[in-house]
Amino acid sequence: MEGFSTHLSQILSNYTYDTLRQITKKLSGAGTKKPEMVSYIIGYLCKPENHSKIGQVFPPELAKELSKVLPDKDLSCICDDCWKVSNLITCTVCSKKLHTACMGNLTFQKKFTCITCQFKILNPSDEVLQFLVSPFIIPENREKSVSFNYSATLANEISNVKTATEVQLRCIKIQSPGFCITWPKNGTLSINKRNIKEFKSDKNRKEVCLDISILLKVGTNEIGFSKKQDSEDYCLAVVKVRKNTVDSLFQKFVKNVQPVEKCLRLLNKTYLPEKDLKASHIKIVFKCPYSLQNIKYPARGKKCSHVSCFDLSNFIEFQKFENYYWKCPICKGPAYDVYVDGYLLSILQQYDQLDAVEISEDGTIQPLFEEKHQSEEKKSRPEKVIKKKIKPVEIVIIQETAKNLIIID
Ligand SMILES: [Zn+2]
Ligand SMILES: [Zn+2]
Ligand SMILES: [Zn+2]
Repeated sequence: MEGFSTHLSQILSNYTYDTLRQITKKLSGAGTKKPEMVSYIIGYLCKPENHSKIGQVFPPELAKELSKVLPDKDLSCICDDCWKVSNLITCTVCSKKLHTACMGNLTFQKKFTCITCQFKILNPSDEVLQFLVSPFIIPENREKSVSFNYSATLANEISNVKTATEVQLRCIKIQSPGFCITWPKNGTLSINKRNIKEFKSDKNRKEVCLDISILLKVGTNEIGFSKKQDSEDYCLAVVKVRKNTVDSLFQKFVKNVQPVEKCLRLLNKTYLPEKDLKASHIKIVFKCPYSLQNIKYPARGKKCSHVSCFDLSNFIEFQKFENYYWKCPICKGPAYDVYVDGYLLSILQQYDQLDAVEISEDGTIQPLFEEKHQSEEKKSRPEKVIKKKIKPVEIVIIQETAKNLIIID
């Protein structure tokens, strides 16, 4: 901020007393001496909400000069310090810009997703409808309090069970890979000056969204949070959410079927030789890791890089037992954006009780059935080897001598 302040001060001092006086008057500001007026104008410019009014308040030449040094208009960082000297990084979801310096390891994400967007998408069961308090950083060893208005209309809506809405407090650790609720190791939460919760370091602690609806009163509410003995940065936000039912979530995600070509691309990546090991077949077992029953809707998270799947319906159903973490049961990565593998679904739809499938690099598929299904399946089971209609794209040529079988389950 200081650097910018000096810069602004230099620009403004080049303008005449009369020009500065005119601007100060327009802003209804006090000050009759040049330094006083300069510092008043700087104070005005330090508020990002004033940046869009520069063209109306300042003479064109000065406005042009100022626009070169003012922060980017799309800047919306959690630090609230628009003057911070840092490169900017753009969120691939909302297009807002944030300071690279404030985002820590989050900048290493393949597709950078800002904290606000992470708060929105991390738990599809509780869909964020509104931010009552935008994400802010919890300082170390001192309490940060924020206040917000809880209107009578909102209170009525929340208390009506039919709306299935609640007010939640959410917290994310900034330096971690994100997309999950994480509270500080040691911290204290207060609402309207009453101590509500102590956070203690405990590996069995459940990292969940906190429903604070019943602790709020109509009018202004104050949330206070302090953390200690934890040097990591955390962001807190207050959101209004709607609780989605298991059925509505299933209906939403079951439509999200990845086209066959895209699924084949993932499959083909698995054939790529890794060190000396070259795959000639891939075996995919259609057993859901949750129920150990046969998979009906083969699903995985968008960020998953494995071909194995879990059952979509079980995955959604199990979230309530897993604190709504929306983590892939196979790779433990975030799977809030789960999709159905269109290619594997098409194979599953061809056979009853299919337990596994072997897919060769030349596009041949071999359905596999467990012993218990053998007799009943015999009649309907087709020829041993069936040529797939669509060949995988970018097939890797496998040397005869180096054939191996990779089993993924
Ligand atoms: Zn920042
Ligand atoms: Zn964003
Ligand atoms: Zn995964």
